[in-house]
Amino acid sequence: MRLGRAAAAALLSLACARAPETATRIEPTACDARVRVASERPLLLDVDVACSGQEIAAFRAAEAASVQHLSRLPAGVTRHGPRFVLAAPSRQARLSYRVNLDALASSAQSFDIALRSGSTLVAPVSSWLVHPDPLATDVPVRVRVETPPGFSFETGLTRSDRAYTLEAHEIPVGTYALFGRFESRTLDVDDSRLRVAFADGRLDAGKDELAGWIEASARAVGDFWRKFPVPHVLVTVIPVPGRDGVLFGKVLPESAPGVVLLVGEHTGRARLYQDWILVHELFHLGVPSFSGEGKWFDEGLATYFEPIIRARAGWRTEESVWAEFRRAMPLGLEAVSKKGLERAEDFGEVYWGGAIVVMLADVEIRRRTGGARGLEDGLRAVLAAGGHASEVWPLDRTLSLSDESCGVPALEPLARAHARSASRVDLDALWRELGVEEGRLNASAPLAEVRRAILRGGPHSTSAKLGRLR
Ligand SMILES: [Zn+2]
Repeated sequence: MRLGRAAAAALLSLACARAPETATRIEPTACDARVRVASERPLLLDVDVACSGQEIAAFRAAEAASVQHLSRLPAGVTRHGPRFVLAAPSRQARLSYRVNLDALASSAQSFDIALRSGSTLVAPVSSWLVHPDPLATDVPVRVRVETPPGFSFETGLTRSDRAYTLEAHEIPVGTYALFGRFESRTLDVDDSRLRVAFADGRLDAGKDELAGWIEASARAVGDFWRKFPVPHVLVTVIPVPGRDGVLFGKVLPESAPGVVLLVGEHTGRARLYQDWILVHELFHLGVPSFSGEGKWFDEGLATYFEPIIRARAGWRTEESVWAEFRRAMPLGLEAVSKKGLERAEDFGEVYWGGAIVVMLADVEIRRRTGGARGLEDGLRAVLAAGGHASEVWPLDRTLSLSDESCGVPALEPLARAHARSASRVDLDALWRELGVEEGRLNASAPLAEVRRAILRGGPHSTSAKLGRLR
């Protein structure tokens, strides 16, 4: 999506450069969206989108499944699939419509489109807000939402004044929103503000326990990044009746980050702290997004560092982390050795193949710097340069900046060898050097100190709790 925006920007600047001097100046476009809750159950939204500036001939529903649940279109507007063509192109274009989110939730039953949970409905922006078509670059959209008394609205979108803001090209991938009657809380972590919204439903552990776990996880991730990596995020907890455990998690980072977690009704405290999903999703917030490349790197980093972060927090042992790596990394071996990670597809290949390359880079940096630096120092340099999850970066720029700041060429050569092409990795030899043996860690292995530094986090780490693990 961001790539499309960059390409469109390049085209626009080219067009401007060639325009004759007498050409009419093209006004920038801006849109205002008014969203009114017309009915709570079924949840009906009356939406009015008005854009001024450049001439607009049509609007488009980004979520194709929502099209059949849009009604009350103005006279003269014709539908062409997900496109709504206006009676005439206009510099003051407007489209009003009603969207039935309960009907959409009944057919979709997915939080990526629409999901009802008791008196709460969760739906990303793309399911209820249309955008001008074609998508122009840098078109700001202000969204105002009017709700009945006692009815709440919550979203990860950036709020300024009394409106939420995003850009039109972000609507198709816009973050989550909640409508209805639900409880939300604010957690201050480092300099960041986390909103936690609990969709309606039973949770045996209670909301205080869940909120405490989310805050502790955010602090553990913040310790890794030196502070929580983004200024604000909405974490939506959706209880799942009759189930036990954290069942699924996903981050939608574009526009502003939002995390959705499906948590089983019967999940107890111990299960929460044993689970990987939340720390994995929160870790992602500190890494840039990539377009059409680098999934192995994004997922490999989260897969490798999530257990390390939880060990540093005192929630699991050093031995268990290495035992998991030893057990699971062979799932990615074929992808790094024979296929190349950019061509990898399934979960094991992408996540654990990526984790192999990331671990090789970390070991190389620790080895070459005598444990003084690790891959995490390179990643922090990328984040300090603005590379967080709501920004799309080229993979090459990310790898080279990390390598440069560590002073060790690690990620770039490894990506050439195992992502863009493939070459053999001898994991068994690496485990021997690190002293990762079946059922135990060997303290006198040649790279035992590197292995310890990886878990401890190097000389700058504040992970005082790791001492408790031994
Ligand atoms: Zn992930």
